[in-house]
Amino acid sequence: MKWVYSFGEGSGEGDASMKHLLGGKGANLAEMASLGLPVPPGFTITTEVCTAFYDNDRQYPDGLKAQVAAAIATVGAAVGRVFGDADKPLLVSVRSGARASMPGMMDTVLNLGLTDETVKGLASLAGDERFAYDSYRRFIQMYSNVVLELDHHEFEDILETYKEERDYFLDTELSADDWKSIVASYKGVVEKVRGKPFPQDPTEQIWGAIGAVFGSWRNDRAETYRRLHNIPESWGTAVNVQAMVFGNMGDTSATGVAFTRNPSTGENEYYGEFLINAQGEDVVAGIRTPQPLTKSAREAMGEEDPSLEEAMPKAYGELTAVFDKLEKHYRDMQDIEFTIQENKLWMLQTRNGKRTAKAAMKIAVDLCQEGLINREEAVLRVEPGSLDQLLHPSLDPNAPRDLVLAGLPASPGAASGEVVFSADEAERLSQEGRKVILVRVETSPEDIHGMHAAQAIVTARGGMTSHAAVVARGMGRPCVCGAGDLKIDKSGAFFTAGGRQVNKGDCVTVDGSAGKVFFGEVATMQPELSGDFATLMGWADNVRRMAVRANADTPHDAQVARNFGAQGIGLCRTEHMFFDAERIVAVREMILAEDKAGREAALAKLLPMQRSDFEDIFRVMSGLPVTVRLLDPPLHEFLPHSDDEIEEVAKSSGMDAQKLKDRAHKLQEFNPMLGHRGCRLGVSYPEIYEMQARAIVEAACTIAEETGERVTPEIMVPLVAKSEELSFLKKRIDDVASAVLKERNATLDYLVGTMIELPRAALTADEIAGDAEFFSFGTNDLTQTTFGLSRDDSASFLPDYLRRNILERDPFVTIDTQGVGALMEVAVEKGRKTRPQIKLGICGEHGGDPDSITFVENLGLDYVSCSPYRAPIARLAAAQAKL
Ligand code: PEP
Ligand code: MG
Repeated sequence: MKWVYSFGEGSGEGDASMKHLLGGKGANLAEMASLGLPVPPGFTITTEVCTAFYDNDRQYPDGLKAQVAAAIATVGAAVGRVFGDADKPLLVSVRSGARASMPGMMDTVLNLGLTDETVKGLASLAGDERFAYDSYRRFIQMYSNVVLELDHHEFEDILETYKEERDYFLDTELSADDWKSIVASYKGVVEKVRGKPFPQDPTEQIWGAIGAVFGSWRNDRAETYRRLHNIPESWGTAVNVQAMVFGNMGDTSATGVAFTRNPSTGENEYYGEFLINAQGEDVVAGIRTPQPLTKSAREAMGEEDPSLEEAMPKAYGELTAVFDKLEKHYRDMQDIEFTIQENKLWMLQTRNGKRTAKAAMKIAVDLCQEGLINREEAVLRVEPGSLDQLLHPSLDPNAPRDLVLAGLPASPGAASGEVVFSADEAERLSQEGRKVILVRVETSPEDIHGMHAAQAIVTARGGMTSHAAVVARGMGRPCVCGAGDLKIDKSGAFFTAGGRQVNKGDCVTVDGSAGKVFFGEVATMQPELSGDFATLMGWADNVRRMAVRANADTPHDAQVARNFGAQGIGLCRTEHMFFDAERIVAVREMILAEDKAGREAALAKLLPMQRSDFEDIFRVMSGLPVTVRLLDPPLHEFLPHSDDEIEEVAKSSGMDAQKLKDRAHKLQEFNPMLGHRGCRLGVSYPEIYEMQARAIVEAACTIAEETGERVTPEIMVPLVAKSEELSFLKKRIDDVASAVLKERNATLDYLVGTMIELPRAALTADEIAGDAEFFSFGTNDLTQTTFGLSRDDSASFLPDYLRRNILERDPFVTIDTQGVGALMEVAVEKGRKTRPQIKLGICGEHGGDPDSITFVENLGLDYVSCSPYRAPIARLAAAQAKL
């Protein structure tokens, strides 16, 4: 079995298509090597080894050790070095590389192979003792942290104290002898903590590092990241071992990260950061603040220190030539890691770059206009869920504001919330429903749960490619990083900036697009949905088959829905119209009425209000279809609770307060979600649905007359389980409609249909379709009743199911295709058997979830309906599902 794939300049055993086996990094290194780009030679241990490792109680498969030894020898031969040799030591990096990129989640070890002996060989080969001992101390710290599990602060404290005692400020001020002392102290601390010296056998070192990388696949932060990004555990990670090249060999050496286009805005400009005389981890960790790549970026930032373009023009020229080659080859924006060793450029990584939604839009549209991809590919390039970011508010330019802090605009969007200083606290408060802003010196992968819980993130250190920035952009959280003025007090009670103090719990507003933080809450504005957004959505609409409607109950929501491109209303929940302060009394009167006469009196008060609700909505939707669902409240939601509320109903209805109280008591249910709700209410009190049907038909006639447009209401009966329920109610609805049309001497096309939201309805859909002109899948209730899982109570224990992999996805977010989805398939098939042209849609929350949209595209539904703000997401997801 082949466990190891080698690569080196000019050739690679793998290629970019082999991400499953080699991980993203390994596959792309092989591809770059084959393209003839300057890639240090190395090899990839496959993801199959990771899987085998976990399947066999953390034992490596047979044959692996020999293949690794042979591959190391090949790498050594390619660079004229020998692993472990005292004179010509080969040093390597050991890095993780999963199929999907998981920035910073797993472990890396650089400079591996250094020992007390080989460090001397490295010094003489390089003619630079300082560099050799600098590399050695880095290696000891990194290896000890990653493999031996010592805390970083053990080493940082030693270095800090050493510098303070000697009045050093920058690491670059330390001499070879200084680093030698530091190395001795580092080794001392390792021996003290472990009771054993730092390993001096390079073979032991490399297996320690390989084991740590495989082990890191299951560390907490990697597991959290996978859960948030739906990356299956079974994928495993690969391990990449590569000859070291050194960015820390003096002032002709450097290391950096770059994007071929701006990952925040999508602008077609080279974008990146580098540090002279440093190793890669320095850039990502944000220990020193890196410099921009280009002269124009440096000038725009008002920086003094030279850009790469100015400091190393030759290497910069080679680098930008590589950018262009890679972009054309991969036909996408690339995120690149490079090192320059004594003016020679080396490529360490390339991958499709993460980007904000705004950048994704722009890059997709630009690449299409540049002829690199076609429109359909452009549509597939933008992740529908990421549009959420674009639909987030920005600061109102006219709103007053009070600047506290400025930093880098690391991730766009604006949000307000109370200041917290720890990820755990961010998570705890957000679970209480509070909005928080996470403020940190810097973030590390351990903070990921808090970043997810926060509205926005602010850090004191780190550049645009620091961990905080990359992760926040991926999550769509506004983020300001590298805010150098920010000083978090040791007490964790406040921070100061520019001489001012902000306490924990104080409200601030973060503008991630401008890199600014303001005191208090600053007014925000909705985004402009034009330009690239409109272009790409237009292309998506051209390929989309399903219609996209919105769930909207008010004229305002209906307007938002139209602005976001919804083609109708798929669910207008009428109970939401009944909670209004002046209406609720009449609603309560209706529910608590003792007899039909009492109920009709209350309904007569509600009729004009309902009619005008529908008029307003039909007017906004001018001619687009509107599905109005008849009343579906769990009854208890409307019952009066206090004596005052009872009194109010008594006064309005003329009923006795005590009697009302008794009746309200009688109507209490143990399990209201499975109780007297939906069409069951209509069966008990048909006059309620008759009133609603009248309001709908009258409103439709009025608006048709007023606007001259066709109005086609779709009247929807909820929670049907038996066809007889629908037959009983449909007859009454039709009778009312004919009566109204006769009174008005008008004609109207309207449909009567039902929700399919109970398993029995799905299983008997052929009978129900006898009366239903359309079905709309209410997947919220269908999920609740299929799983027997309360939609209101399950949030407290579903996370356990996800954590233990009993459920892969939250079934209230993404359709459970095997159970709920299977019922939908039955309903579609049976419904069409009775009524081949039956109109089919979905209006549960799943209607706005991209994966569920893919599922219902395959079922052949006619439309999805989702919240107005998700309409663009649904439009794009439906287009992608079709492609
Ligand atoms: C549903 O059950 O999926 C649905 C859309 O109805 P509601 O959420 O109002 O119960
Ligand atoms: Mg429902």
